[in-house]
Amino acid sequence: MAKMYYNGDANAEYLNGKKVAVIGYGSQGHAHSLNMRDSGVEVVIGLRKGNSWNKAEADGFAVYPVSEAVAQADVVMILLPDEQQTKVYKEEIEPNLTNQALMFAHGFNIHFNQIVPPEESDVLLVAPKGPGHLVRRTYEEGAGVPALFAVYQDVTGEARELALAYARAIGSLRAGGLETTFKEETETDLFGEQAVLCGGLTSLVKAGFETLTEAGYQPELAYFECLHELKLIVDLMYEGGLEGMRYSISDTAQWGDFVSGPRVVDARVKEEMKSILTDIQQGKFAKGWILENQANRPVFNAVNESEKQHQIEIVGKELRKMMPFVQKNKQKKEVAVSA
Ligand code: NDP
Ligand code: MG
Ligand code: MG
Repeated sequence: MAKMYYNGDANAEYLNGKKVAVIGYGSQGHAHSLNMRDSGVEVVIGLRKGNSWNKAEADGFAVYPVSEAVAQADVVMILLPDEQQTKVYKEEIEPNLTNQALMFAHGFNIHFNQIVPPEESDVLLVAPKGPGHLVRRTYEEGAGVPALFAVYQDVTGEARELALAYARAIGSLRAGGLETTFKEETETDLFGEQAVLCGGLTSLVKAGFETLTEAGYQPELAYFECLHELKLIVDLMYEGGLEGMRYSISDTAQWGDFVSGPRVVDARVKEEMKSILTDIQQGKFAKGWILENQANRPVFNAVNESEKQHQIEIVGKELRKMMPFVQKNKQKKEVAVSA
């Protein structure tokens, strides 16, 4: 088993007397900033004028333009959207770097050479394995979201100590920290979201829904079977793995799982997953996404619009209106995100 790091493995005093500039105040930014402040760390926020600026000020932070926040800090955590980081880095961060430590919550831009850090800076990563609202909520409950940490460049000899102290300050070492590299974090994150969590799952759900509706079954039933019930199954897997989930379902469902699951995700699908992983490892996926952004996202926007018109979305919208408990969860989440 890989070693897990907990609060006792971090130097709680390491960030004393140091100023951390958090750049961005979105999902991750607001959670890191509030948690660190509650842990006694001095935090300033770097932003452009707008919604996030107002929110950070309302939360009581000193907010500065990115360049000014960077210039006064010892540690700079970049929590901008990944596609915006290169531009903001070149224009507002890099010119103000002396020897600040540079931190990220995802390795994409460093690993794929979109940001080339100066030789004088420590470069490291602390990536909570969960969305920002959960990072904040669990901290307030006295717990935390587990995090990955990695060192890319260690000039001071203290980069690892900083990573652990930072992970501790945002509450993640209450749950556990796992050491990785920028390469491993970036490639596994991209693969997971493409093949399983986002890409694999949405395509599986749509294919199941289409199979049922094309065979003449009611779309409402198809929605329940192929999308709605997923949450119950995923919750069981989250709590008890595959075995825990299978314990709770009927034996008929479990037999169907054994005989039909491997027919859906067969050797050909796995070959395709390997090819997706190769594209990620060889930088092909990254290049396509970087160019898509430079071209103002023509494909992204077109697919996004057509996906919204899929029958599963139309039916789902109506059904969810009739299920107030689903809506309530959604509201709770939105409140948590904006808190
Ligand atoms: P969000 O999109 O939620 O927030 C981005 C923030 O950056 C906003 O406050 C936005 O402010 C600000 N911003 C955008 N453009 C600029 C600009 N040009 N100048 C100044 N500020 C700007 O991002 P996330 O929190 O989702 O992601 C941040 C990082 O965390 C990424 O590297 C991501 O990969 C990583 N991460 C995200 C996770 C998640 O669950 N969301 C999980 C783990 C890691 P404004 O209101 O002005 O637009
Ligand atoms: Mg990701
Ligand atoms: Mg059933």
